[in-house]
Amino acid sequence: MSYRGRFAPSPTGSLHVGSLVAALGSWLCARRAGGEWLLRMEDIDPPREVPGAAEDILAALPAFGLTAAAPPLWQSQRIPAYEAAFAQLQQANLVFPCWCSRTQLAVDGGMHRDGRCVARPDPAREPAWRLRTPDITITFDDALQGPQRQALREQAGDFIVRRAEGFYAYQLACVVDDAFQGISDVVRGSDLLDSTPRQICLQRLLGLPTPRYLHLPLALDAQGRKLSKSEGACPVDPAQPLPALQRALRFLGLPALSGATPQALLAAAADIFRPHDLPQCSGLIF
Ligand code: GLU
Repeated sequence: MSYRGRFAPSPTGSLHVGSLVAALGSWLCARRAGGEWLLRMEDIDPPREVPGAAEDILAALPAFGLTAAAPPLWQSQRIPAYEAAFAQLQQANLVFPCWCSRTQLAVDGGMHRDGRCVARPDPAREPAWRLRTPDITITFDDALQGPQRQALREQAGDFIVRRAEGFYAYQLACVVDDAFQGISDVVRGSDLLDSTPRQICLQRLLGLPTPRYLHLPLALDAQGRKLSKSEGACPVDPAQPLPALQRALRFLGLPALSGATPQALLAAAADIFRPHDLPQCSGLIF
């Protein structure tokens, strides 16, 4: 399989240092492998989205030298594909409707297990749809974090594939689109490491290929908190790309490099980037 990577931001805010690291890490891996790098805007969760954020992110990336091989894929345009995948699961009796609320599930650690609903069916409300999670252990080799295993029913439970509001869940949309875009290698932050077994399970149930995975350490603040927009973080300034780019490159283990433009810096970085030399950990102070 030839190398095809991607960056798949959610438009919940402007590009920030954490997402710049993920974008840069996936771009460098693709470049090093002589492959392609694609973009996907994960705009299928309107309540969490910030107006204008998608356009901001797409305008900022080229300012950092990060240009994609094709126009971005917008998940909001892909609903029919998620409907088809959902129908496939439904026909195979692999999903069930569920009216349980978060509060009701909180007493059992917030997890829904073994198809056991706490709430009764309520014809007056739309249900969420959950996967009848098989009792299997998913294992995979992360290219940086090493061998991973998850007892899916125990650790993920019957997870939601379609929310009561009618929105398709990230896990479902992500596997449908990684396959649609022909992604061979997913490089993203370690906050998604424990989503990967759910995604591999869905790929198997839907007959989709499983890409290779590499989960980068997350950029943390001095208190060990994730540096992301949702925690009031630092947006990067596309008008001054070099300082943020230099810092993000250092975070990814590269020495101080010289380059008068983002493109020159990235070219120098791609020559020496060794993703496997990054520390095997879920996060690092930025
Ligand atoms: N949209 C997700 C996020 O911004 C990332 C999805 C992925 O890389 O699989 O956290």
